[in-house]
Amino acid sequence: MMFKWKVSLGILLLFIDVLTYSFLKAKDKPTVKQIKSSKHGKILTNDKVSISNSKSKKPKRKLIILSIDGFPANYLDHPEILDQIPNLKNLFAKSQGGRIATINPSVTYASHTSMITGQDPGFHGIEGNTPIDPYDQEDGAWLWYYDDIKVETLLDIAKQENAKTANVYWPVTVGAPIDWNIPQFWREKTNSDLKILRSLSTPGLHRAMEKKIKQPVLETTKDDAKIRTGIEIFLKYKPDISLIYSTDLDTYHHAKGPFSDQAIEKLKLTDTYVGELIHKTNLYKREDLALIVVSDHGFTTAKSICRPNKLLLEMNYLQPQEKTWKYYIKSTGGLAFLVENEKYSESKQNTSTFLSAENNPDRKNLLFSLSSKIKEECKGVRMIYSGDEFEYYRKKSFPLSLAILLSDESTHISTSWTGDFYTDVQNPIFTHGFPAYRSDMDTIGFFYSNIGMKESLSKNPKSKSKEKLQNLRFESVKDVFPFSCMWMNWNCKPNLKKED
Ligand SMILES: [Zn+2]
Repeated sequence: MMFKWKVSLGILLLFIDVLTYSFLKAKDKPTVKQIKSSKHGKILTNDKVSISNSKSKKPKRKLIILSIDGFPANYLDHPEILDQIPNLKNLFAKSQGGRIATINPSVTYASHTSMITGQDPGFHGIEGNTPIDPYDQEDGAWLWYYDDIKVETLLDIAKQENAKTANVYWPVTVGAPIDWNIPQFWREKTNSDLKILRSLSTPGLHRAMEKKIKQPVLETTKDDAKIRTGIEIFLKYKPDISLIYSTDLDTYHHAKGPFSDQAIEKLKLTDTYVGELIHKTNLYKREDLALIVVSDHGFTTAKSICRPNKLLLEMNYLQPQEKTWKYYIKSTGGLAFLVENEKYSESKQNTSTFLSAENNPDRKNLLFSLSSKIKEECKGVRMIYSGDEFEYYRKKSFPLSLAILLSDESTHISTSWTGDFYTDVQNPIFTHGFPAYRSDMDTIGFFYSNIGMKESLSKNPKSKSKEKLQNLRFESVKDVFPFSCMWMNWNCKPNLKKED
């Protein structure tokens, strides 16, 4: 039997006496017009979210946000998969949400930061998983540090609201203002990581949880360690907001592919830990606790590789021996951007302003050569460097871009400059990071609370609020933010993070 994923919107109206939900036009930023029609309904035409509500009646509510990394929305269309994950299937049926859009770039760190900020990567500052580092001088570093997020997150707002927070392994949380924090971090993927992680976590917490769970949270341990640690922290310390992040499904999708038996086996295991979470937190029997189950991106299978940095090497813009570069193409998989070293370095000093290629013969020449070569050789890849679509991606995804590359078919855009410019691959590449308008990049988002919606609506027939709330749908990873704010009865406004 097919699920009815799209639950009526009114459902959300439940609990809040006076709530207005509006998307403000950012006065100081240009509005980005919709450029792609969307299967997720209306694409919002700006990036700022404001939720205000009455503070007069603030029930003490709790929220758990569980992320299952790399859960493709397409699984929702397969009853034979859902039948194997009964805990999630049951939860989904009780929740509102379903298929949701990811952001650009559709990669883990960018997406998880969009969840807790409600913003696109171009605004929140986490524009991928890793820094721009053509010669790996940072030894495989990822964007682990909370300090790199430019805007306020749910965690900052929680502090302002005197709410307590907990985290198990959510991306970009090293140094985050979290009361009980075990951030995602690794270096060697050996046991030395244990010492580092204990040092980066809230003092004593990592060791105490390892003792309780009988295994440590580490990059090399599995979802049972992460989700069970999340449950234990919730039960022991009773935080108001808990972030829990699980990684196994994504790992197996990368290794074996979406819909593979091995990935489904992993998902079945994760489902049992979700069952534990629901059971041990008594989720279905209490009215003060809501659960968001969300994921960050879908998956696709690439069958060929395009290596645009090879042309940059030939044009002498990349000099690997000297470890210098003038231009470089940073790729997230099926979306890539051309960056100029000078601008990138300036941005680190916060002095950067975008300059177009006009009146710069060097850039003009590069853009022309690169776009011609890609058009000729890379199947299904297009390069844009002017016009509305380019501005859309530049502002929302990579503000420093001189050009954006988009893969519409099954070509993976590599950052490598060795090998052929374009080649088919023998073994398929299971990946993501492709443009978010592709349905295979869609993922899942569900909000569950035990409070009856219809009842709440009848008690609160404020037509204006009701009308505005009709706009609040779980349609994007960014919607974790307004859903969380609404549930917590918080006054969430877009703000830049304060400088220390
Ligand atoms: Zn991911």
